[in-house]
Amino acid sequence: MTTVGILGGGQLARMLALSGAPLGLRFLVMDTAPDACAGQYVPMLVGDYRDEAMLAQFAQQVDVVTFDFENVPAESAQWLSERVPVFPNPRALAVAQDRLAEKTLFRELDIPVPEFAAIASRDELDAAIVRIGVPCILKTRRLGYDGKGQFRIKRVQDIVAAWDALGAQAETVGLILEAFVPFERELSVIAVRGRDGEFRTWPLTENWHVDGVLSASLAPAKTDAALAETAFRHARTLADALDYVGVFALELFCHNGELLANELAPRVHNSGHWTIEGAETSQFENHLRAVLGLPLGDTRMLGHACMLNWVGELPESLMVLREPGGHWHDYGKSPRSGRKVGHSTLRADSATELVSALERVGAISGRQAQVAPVTSRLHARK
Ligand code: AMP
Repeated sequence: MTTVGILGGGQLARMLALSGAPLGLRFLVMDTAPDACAGQYVPMLVGDYRDEAMLAQFAQQVDVVTFDFENVPAESAQWLSERVPVFPNPRALAVAQDRLAEKTLFRELDIPVPEFAAIASRDELDAAIVRIGVPCILKTRRLGYDGKGQFRIKRVQDIVAAWDALGAQAETVGLILEAFVPFERELSVIAVRGRDGEFRTWPLTENWHVDGVLSASLAPAKTDAALAETAFRHARTLADALDYVGVFALELFCHNGELLANELAPRVHNSGHWTIEGAETSQFENHLRAVLGLPLGDTRMLGHACMLNWVGELPESLMVLREPGGHWHDYGKSPRSGRKVGHSTLRADSATELVSALERVGAISGRQAQVAPVTSRLHARK
């Protein structure tokens, strides 16, 4: 019996474990929170990721280690990798944890990125703004997620407020300034690379965010084939360079028809949740297959799919289940403002059927605003 250890016990760990059950896998999760939602299905160790006694106990009970959460201390991942196989490898994790290292690597690999600069002081911020211009975004290098740890500098006068908000973190987690990209769309490549280097991608996904948090994902994205090929090439270059094993997401901005890389998520990703019902093999199952050295599953899509995130509140009713291709995933979390508590996926054989399903679900759940950008993209000629 193979046991997969997962660092982090949120909904990603929960969905990994659910997809691993048919493969006969066991799981052990480690999290700092006793009520982490994967713990409803999977045995869990609760403690600090730096606690060596706990890490040793974890390493002893598992055959392979992976992550649902990239902000696990890099030293802990390294410590574990000296005792048990860890995928993705600690170097890939370390790069993805630091926006500066990540953007520097993208640039080295000829993957275009927005202009950026490392910021260690207020003087450096002033100088970088002269070079990069406004609007721009000041971000923490580490520990930011879902738009947290970011300040948008719209005008030069905002510099003071930006420094007040984030300046203290220049010495702790570090800061990076990025040019603001007035993108036409946000895309993500969900890809998987096996232990033997085999590489596959699911069809390109288009994403919409609200307040920095993913709101909706549509697959396949309505883009031309050449753009998708470029996105897949960037993902492959990155995965090969990092000797990456497992699923990851490469988030991209599309501006004037060009792709600019925003970030690498070294794990299964929210914009790939549609693969559970919308693809031959889900991102969760393929992640497990990859880290265990099993053959990768087909990533082909089954029609068209849209994932809608439920953030801060649960649906009043499960009317979405009335849709022929409607699915609901409850993460078992208590609702709190800004917290992802579930998602629904709508799958259909054609884009026209998907539009109708989205319009019905938007109307019954009062979420017309959430589905509107997706339906208008599907209505548009391109
Ligand atoms: P991140 O945490 O970097 O993924 O940022 C969260 C969201 O903020 C992204 O999905 C974008 O919608 C937006 N964002 C981040 N960086 C930029 C940028 N350089 N230009 C424009 N929008 C951005």
